Amino acid sequence: MRDWLAHRVAATPDAEALVSAATGRTWTYADLDEAADEMARRLAGLGVGPGDHVAVVVSPRIEYVTLVHATMRLGARLVPTSHELTPAELRPRLDAADATVLVCEADTEGTAVEATAATDEGEAEETGEGREARNDEGEAAGNGDEGSTTADGQAGTAGEPTVPVVSLDEADADRVAHLKAAEGGEIEPSPWTRGQPLLMLFTSGSTGTSKLVVLTMGNVLASATASAFRLGVNPDARYMAALSFHHTGGIMPLYRAALYGTGVVLRTGFDAGGVADDVREYDVTGISLVPTMLRRMLDARGTLSDSLRVVLLGGAPASEELIERCRHYSIPVHPTYGMTEAASGITVARPGEAFDRVGTVGRPLLWTDVRVRDEDGEELPPGEVGEFVVSGPSVTPGYYRNREANESALGADGLATGDRGYRDEDGYCYVLNRADDRILTGGENVDPGEVLAALREHPEVADAAVVGVPDEEWGERVAALVVPAGEGAERGPGDGPAETPDDAPDRLDAEELRAFCRERLADFKLPRAIRFAEGLPRTDSGTVRRPEVRERLADATGTGDEGP
Ligand code: ATP
Ligand code: MG
Repeated sequence: MRDWLAHRVAATPDAEALVSAATGRTWTYADLDEAADEMARRLAGLGVGPGDHVAVVVSPRIEYVTLVHATMRLGARLVPTSHELTPAELRPRLDAADATVLVCEADTEGTAVEATAATDEGEAEETGEGREARNDEGEAAGNGDEGSTTADGQAGTAGEPTVPVVSLDEADADRVAHLKAAEGGEIEPSPWTRGQPLLMLFTSGSTGTSKLVVLTMGNVLASATASAFRLGVNPDARYMAALSFHHTGGIMPLYRAALYGTGVVLRTGFDAGGVADDVREYDVTGISLVPTMLRRMLDARGTLSDSLRVVLLGGAPASEELIERCRHYSIPVHPTYGMTEAASGITVARPGEAFDRVGTVGRPLLWTDVRVRDEDGEELPPGEVGEFVVSGPSVTPGYYRNREANESALGADGLATGDRGYRDEDGYCYVLNRADDRILTGGENVDPGEVLAALREHPEVADAAVVGVPDEEWGERVAALVVPAGEGAERGPGDGPAETPDDAPDRLDAEELRAFCRERLADFKLPRAIRFAEGLPRTDSGTVRRPEVRERLADATGTGDEGP
């Protein structure tokens, strides 16, 4: 295969490829192909070629889409990172990904320069040697990768950046190459095979540090095809890219659109009302959202445009109330369960299924196999709760050079997801929580999901997170961070942590809440410590940052005198 844009432009050059919601400008596939080709030539002029790792620290903009296709044309691997990272956060990511080159823009130039600065001689050399050493070891994907060198073929030396930086915008020419200034001759589109890594994505880091997932062309192809078989493809579909491109749910639609020949509407940044308005203005037919975003869009505009045919909702559990609102307004919500390691979707529910089977994320996509396993690795029958193990052509061949993670997650029967849940008799899946979220208190296992459900029944509770915090006597004690009703609704992904007022708001009090839970939960499951917050700390894919919740509750004792 050649890159997908090359195949697409041969088929439907005049079909709409991109729309900028900021300017209303549109690009056909022929336009996009031309732009991608020019970018590929310039990147090649800077030394980027097959097998190179092109790290990207760029906000969502038209050139991002061009980059996706340009790297594929070159046979290079895309490594998206958040454009909001600090230099200290970006540096280890570039290192972990063995970045060959870093693409930035005006706004991230400072970060890119700082993250790639050689701090001293030792480090510059170490980076170069480290890179070679790691190449010898091979990598998880095991595809005979040729390894990576810097774009000019050598490792950094003292004073020179550890990774060369190139900007999409005008840049400080002494430190950063300007892509538009790079010369590039003709290039031959690089041939692709299914097993070849197409991109590497960092997981969200909900459980701690992010892991770097290798996704092959075959993984992305399988995911896009399976998704088309479940949802259908309408040639005049228009998809709104609302999720960040460094997440699987955000970037996959860009690859998919080129396969399907459909359009993508791009807008910068997420503001709930603005996205809802653009969906209406541009007759958008599909969008992927995390629950917080959808809730905020509904809060802002009541309902959504009836141009929508598919609203994919995933990344974090969707509340019953949110699904109910979708039913009420006839919003075509498709709850989905997915992860970076499976190139996004694993299961998808159609609206009718979501409305009929409360809490379901639907059935597995075609070719994807979801099994439920107990702690001893035995497969469990329908109705029983265990860990989801996922296999199929969209599942990653492995984490990039991370033997420990590969050994613990990838087994003969698939990828251990770390997520707990069950299937019903008809094969519909239900996600409950993460395996390592369980709390062990005084020898008893507590499922935080159950405590959460009890807390959420209280009318004054908008949201909550339940974790175990270390306890000298009981090993762990159950602790809850609670968002009182009327607060938190305005908060969403990317907002960062809310300030935590330590005093309980007047209308909700910890004792009362505990008494409320006591009517619903066995004594050992009661939250010993309760703290109130304006919002929960979330990753930008919408999941709760549990380590941060634990930290914020570590010294909360509540009425800790009662034992489990
Ligand atoms: P890390 O692996 O670094 O801890 P992460 O797992 O949050 O981070 P992602 O790959 O972005 O990184 O997220 C996938 C996870 O999101 C799933 O494993 C699951 O825990 C959660 N998730 C996805 N969809 C749903 C859903 N519909 N309901 C509940 N949880 C979901
Ligand atoms: Mg994960």
